[in-house]
Amino acid sequence: MTNLSFLLRFIIHYVKPVPTRNELWMKVQELLQKNLSKPSYETWIRPAEFFDFKDGSLTLLAPNSFSSDWLRKNYSQTIEEFATEIYGHPVKVLIKVKEEFQSNKSIKKKSISNLDQVNSVSDRDTNDRQSIQSPKKKFLPGLNLRYVFNRFVVGPNSRMAHAAAMAVAEAPGREFNPLFICGGVGLGKTHLMQSIGHYRLEIDPEAKVAYVSTETFTNDLIVAIRKDGMQAFRNRYREADLILVDDIQFIEGKEYTQEEFFHTFNALHEAGRQIVLTSDRPPSQIPRLQERLISRFSMGLIADIQAPDLETRMAILQKKAEHERMRLPRDLIQFIAGRFTSNIRELEGAFTRAVAFASITGLPMTVESVAPMLDPTGQGVEVKPKQVMEKVAEVFGVTEEEMRSASRRRPVSQARQVGMYLMRHGTDLSLPRIGESFGGKDHTTVMYAIEQIEKKLSTEPQLASQVQKVKDLLQIDSRKRR
Ligand code: ADP
Ligand code: MG
Repeated sequence: MTNLSFLLRFIIHYVKPVPTRNELWMKVQELLQKNLSKPSYETWIRPAEFFDFKDGSLTLLAPNSFSSDWLRKNYSQTIEEFATEIYGHPVKVLIKVKEEFQSNKSIKKKSISNLDQVNSVSDRDTNDRQSIQSPKKKFLPGLNLRYVFNRFVVGPNSRMAHAAAMAVAEAPGREFNPLFICGGVGLGKTHLMQSIGHYRLEIDPEAKVAYVSTETFTNDLIVAIRKDGMQAFRNRYREADLILVDDIQFIEGKEYTQEEFFHTFNALHEAGRQIVLTSDRPPSQIPRLQERLISRFSMGLIADIQAPDLETRMAILQKKAEHERMRLPRDLIQFIAGRFTSNIRELEGAFTRAVAFASITGLPMTVESVAPMLDPTGQGVEVKPKQVMEKVAEVFGVTEEEMRSASRRRPVSQARQVGMYLMRHGTDLSLPRIGESFGGKDHTTVMYAIEQIEKKLSTEPQLASQVQKVKDLLQIDSRKRR
């Protein structure tokens, strides 16, 4: 029996020599090179480094988080198939970010935990949950390594929140307690909140930092009640030096959670520990929130984050491009930033799609090549510039001729600005082209017009409804625009 298996193994080895570890990745790369377009191979596969091959797991290191996500989503299956074929046994592929993978190790070493041994609550696999449950890691602030201050672009929209966040990280429990950060979806609340945690740990590696989503807090509470582990629950949350509770608006209507949170809050506050909360709206506007919590949440500082202006959005993309070590032409950055105005997550998504699209198709990264990918309406509604002119003229009671003229009469210039704004959002025209459609205006004039309209839309209801009317006539989906 033993002899037979030995013989079999010998034959397998003989027929299919097992490649040495690094060789495996080299061979997979060769196969991928044959199967992928050159730009895809060069962009995604070549930069991935071999790290380890153990127990059938092939670990690769991607140069940045963007490319690791991309590899995971688009190539890990193919890599596994090829590796399995070459190796002759099932191979699993793990893709890590080089930088994070390395720094993660050092953080783990020097950190301590205040929330360890948390009971399993649900099998939800959220970010914070993972790190809270991980048995090996004692420390579990559950922080995303990307969410640090130096990757946060400060604009007029976030200056105050950013300054308060820095202050809190530097001197927790003093000036602003709690710090309540509020703002719309995708505007950087979680990023800013987690930056506080990272920075605090940088200053004081012994600090007990806890990051928790309101959902996790609630789930933990439910489990504690069910298992009668209230004391453990309390100890866990009340030991933190700095507690970051994300999306506190989800506490609305949950009476018991509010009750418990109220006591946790008081215990921490009295002990001079720092509390940071985020929400999509200020405390007083959270429905079904107990009065005493509204007053607790409002006793420190409420700092809001607004939608970023064009310049800030461009700076965010620029920074992202630098981080991913990519070069994007300035007009493309301007183009993307011009189209995604109210949510930075969507802005980043557009950037990702643009890069991916260019890399897959092998087209250059230009406005013309990428624009069709970036329809913010998500519906591929194609609007002709001519139609925009027509409908704007109709709704604003001016002529197309006037819009193309140099007239500065208010109704005319208003209509012209709206026309520019809608062309930007409804068509694929670049800024200079839009300028041309309006009788040869400069692209900076177009940019200015778009900014103006964006600003006015939230403060001038009459204008907003006129714009909406044009959109309806053009059937531009308005779901994502505000
Ligand atoms: P929120 O919690 O407000 O919904 P997030 O903090 O999750 O928003 O931010 C959404 C995405 O946008 C994240 O990837 C974040 O890194 C990015 N982001 C938000 N604001 C900024 C900023 N000012 N600079 C750089 N990136 C930002
Ligand atoms: Mg968030």
